[in-house]
Amino acid sequence: MTAPQFEPATERDVAVVTAQLGRPARGVLGIAARCVCGNPTVVATAPRLPGGTPFPTLYYLTHPAATAAMSRLEADHVMAEFQELVETDAAVHAAYEAAHRAYLADRESIEAVEEIRGFSAGGMPDRVKCLHALAAHSLAAGPGVNPIGDLALERGDWSPNVCECADYGL
Ligand SMILES: [Zn+2]
Repeated sequence: MTAPQFEPATERDVAVVTAQLGRPARGVLGIAARCVCGNPTVVATAPRLPGGTPFPTLYYLTHPAATAAMSRLEADHVMAEFQELVETDAAVHAAYEAAHRAYLADRESIEAVEEIRGFSAGGMPDRVKCLHALAAHSLAAGPGVNPIGDLALERGDWSPNVCECADYGL
């Protein structure tokens, strides 16, 4: 199994992610997706954080405009709509299960952490529980891997091709 390739995070990247999150970025393995301007949108985070805490969310959405767009979709009950799609469309469900397996494969190629074995992110493979995590997977993996993350990005009013970054002074 080949480990996913992430661009290494520069010192500036880590500083931007810290500013985006409003707290120190921990366990950053690399940058899995970027804004058109180059700022990080998704960080790849270690399956076990420094200090030992298991961290299932390999792909973590950090960009404030992106996270806000996903939060608006969640507030608009889009998750219930996507949940119904997963339950009623066999092709979508199969693709969502494949996305779950791809997520686990990516993570376990870095480190297999017993406490989170079989748990991916965002509710996969049967539930739609966090559009932020699913969109982050889609941004990291590219279109066609996570059907619900792809739909969330299509539906949201944020795009990685239009820079809405704050001036972090970095
Ligand atoms: Zn930007």
